[in-house]
Amino acid sequence: MLSFDSRLPLGSKRAMKRTAETFDVVVIGAGAAGMMCAIEAGKRGRSVLVLDHAVAPGEKIRISGGGRCNFTNLEGDKAERYLSANPHFCKSVLSRYSPRDFIALVDRHGIAWHEKTLGQLFCDGSATEIVAMLLNEMRSAGAVLRLRSEIDRVEQTDTGFEVAVGGGRIACDSLVVACGGKSIPKMGASGFGYELARQFELDITDTRPALVPLTYAVQVLEQLKPLIGVAVPQATVKGGKGRFEEDILFTHRGLSGPAVLQVSSYWREGEEIVVDFAPGLDALDFLKTAKREHARTALHTVLGWKLPRALAVLIAHDHGAPGNMADQPDKALKAVAEMVNAWRTKPVGSEGYRTAEVTLGGVDTRGLDQKTMAARGVPGLYFIGEVVDVTGWLGGYNFQWAWASGFVAGQAV
Ligand SMILES: Cc1cc2nc3c(=O)[nH]c(=O)nc-3n(C[C@H](O)[C@H](O)[C@H](O)COP(=O)(O)OP(=O)(O)OC[C@H]3O[C@@H](n4cnc5c(N)ncnc54)[C@H](O)[C@@H]3O)c2cc1C
Repeated sequence: MLSFDSRLPLGSKRAMKRTAETFDVVVIGAGAAGMMCAIEAGKRGRSVLVLDHAVAPGEKIRISGGGRCNFTNLEGDKAERYLSANPHFCKSVLSRYSPRDFIALVDRHGIAWHEKTLGQLFCDGSATEIVAMLLNEMRSAGAVLRLRSEIDRVEQTDTGFEVAVGGGRIACDSLVVACGGKSIPKMGASGFGYELARQFELDITDTRPALVPLTYAVQVLEQLKPLIGVAVPQATVKGGKGRFEEDILFTHRGLSGPAVLQVSSYWREGEEIVVDFAPGLDALDFLKTAKREHARTALHTVLGWKLPRALAVLIAHDHGAPGNMADQPDKALKAVAEMVNAWRTKPVGSEGYRTAEVTLGGVDTRGLDQKTMAARGVPGLYFIGEVVDVTGWLGGYNFQWAWASGFVAGQAV
C-alpha cells in the first residue's frame, strides 16, 4: 500500500481539499514511456499513480514488431535517426539511457531476444514479455496502475496539479503526460496530450501520420494492379530528405514495406518519390549487354533475372518494344532502365493514423528542458514519449525514445 504524501504545508489549497487522493507523481498513459517513468520514479521512493483510459497497459507494445516487439535498436542512441523541428534536443536524453541499458533490463528478466536486421532487436518469444517485465518492475517500485480511468480535467494548484478522474480528484506534485500520439485510435490513441500541452501554453509542431504506407490515385492503382502483393527486396526509396534501402511491398492502396514507411516520415503531399528497384545495378548497361548476349530472349525474362517476375512483366509490357531483346531500340532500353533505376511517382497521400506506427511532430521541444523533459515555465509538468516532437526511424527507435525520455523524467519528478 502506498503512503500518501505527508509533506504538504497545512492550510495549503491542496490540503484543504480533503477528498483528493494524493500522490507525488501522476503519470497519464501506461504505455512504454509512462511505465518506464513510473518505474524510475518509484525506485527513487516517489509515490506514483499511473492512469490510463484503456483496459490494458502497453497495448502498442503488445502489437508491436508483429507481436515480437522490436524493443530497441543497437544504434538507438544516434540522434540523426530521429526527426524533430529541434534535432539536437534528443541527444542528451538518448545519452542518459542507451539501448544497452534497456538490453540489460531485458536480460535481467531472462527475456530471450535476437537481432533481426540493421540493429533491430526483437523478443524471441512474445511482446507480452516486455509488458509483463514493465508491470513487474512497476510493482517492485511500488507504482500503482489504474486502468479505465477517463480524465475529465487537469488543473494547476499552488503546490502542483489536481487531476479530476471518474468523479474523484487526485492531487500530485508532478504530472507526467505520456499519452502517446494519434496513431491507431482504436488502440487508445487520443490526442489528449496535445490538449494538455495547449492548456499549459506549450506549442505543438504540426502533427501528421508517419511510418505509414503511401497511397496512389485510382488510375495509378489500376496500372499497378498486377503487382498487388509483390515484394521487392532491398529497393532504394527516396522522398524528401529521406533515402532508405530496404524491402518494399505493392498493396491494393499503394506502396508499403520498411523502405516506404521510412520515407513516409520525410515525404510531403505533392512531392515525388523515386524508387530504384535494383540498387547497385546499372540497368541500361545490363540491358545493352543482354541485347548483345541474349538477343533471342524476351525482355521480361531478362528483367526477371533482376526483378520479381510480375514487376519484370509489367515494366517490359509498358516500356519495352514488342519482340525479343534484339528488337529493343535504344530508346526503349533507356525507358526500361529508367523504370528500373528511377521509377518516379507521386503518391496522393498516406493510409493515415489508422495504420501509422507513429505521429510525426508533437509538443515542441523548445518548451521542454532537454535534461528532464520538464515543461519550461510550468513547474512539475513533464511530457515524454511519442507525444513530444521527437520521432524515430522504423526499427526500435521509437521505443528507445520512449524508454529514454521516460527514464530521464523518472529521475526528475
Ligand atoms: C502497429 C505498431 C507497431 C509498432 N512497432 C514498433 C516497434 O516494433 N518498435 C518501435 O520502436 N516502435 C514501434 N511502434 C511505435 C511505438 O509503439 C510507439 O512509438 C510507442 O508505443 C510510444 O510510446 P508512448 O508511451 O509514448 O505512447 P503509447 O505507447 O501510445 O502509450 C500511450 C498510452 O496513453 C494512453 N492514453 C491516451 N490517451 C489517454 C487519455 N486521454 N487518458 C488516459 N490515457 C490515455 C493510451 O491508452 C496508451 O496506453 C509501433 C507502433 C504501432 C502502432
